[in-house]
Amino acid sequence: MCSNFQGKLIIISAPSGAGKSTLVQHVIQEIPSLAFSVSCTTRAKREYEVDGEHYHFISIEEFQEKIRQNAFIEWEQVYEGLYYGTLKSEISEHFAQQKHVIFDIDVQGGINIKKQHPEALSIFISPPSIEELERRLINRNTENEETLQKRISKAETEMQFASSFDYILVNDTLVEAQKSLKIKLLQFLQT
Ligand code: 5GP
Repeated sequence: MCSNFQGKLIIISAPSGAGKSTLVQHVIQEIPSLAFSVSCTTRAKREYEVDGEHYHFISIEEFQEKIRQNAFIEWEQVYEGLYYGTLKSEISEHFAQQKHVIFDIDVQGGINIKKQHPEALSIFISPPSIEELERRLINRNTENEETLQKRISKAETEMQFASSFDYILVNDTLVEAQKSLKIKLLQFLQT
């Protein structure tokens, strides 16, 4: 058993539609020592999502019970009526498996975790522009008109917090962004 494992935390935040989930999935496949922190959410599961893999899909009552148990490192009502939270156990369990942990989390949640863990690396994924983000969200076709508008207006606010992060990565060309992110993470994991 290798006892000198030093678990590291990597926070990836971005406005919805900036392409962060795609980037996170890519680096998880490329860097085997990374494990994805599976959040809890009360939003409905999308068709392609797998419970326990993309999220733990739970009811509002279950979510509130976890708040009472102090099980979350952070939680938020990211969109009106929809709760998202990161379980403390995601960190301890992955560290026990000698894996570093990567969070795909909204901007406020990212800032929150960084406050509690200043040693974490925090990265803000920025779309090339708000217009491009809007176009990507529409093309993704996961939202109705109302939730689409909520995500766009939230994105505009979130862009103002980019400078609170250690590093800003502009997701202009996906392949280039994937390469840059991988290099950045490998450097961080070697320090
Ligand atoms: P989506 O509904 O598109 O999966 O996620 C909406 C937003 O919630 C995304 O920005 C996503 O990164 C964020 N999110 C996912 N898990 C968490 C979490 O545990 N805490 C917070 N604060 N945000 C989260």
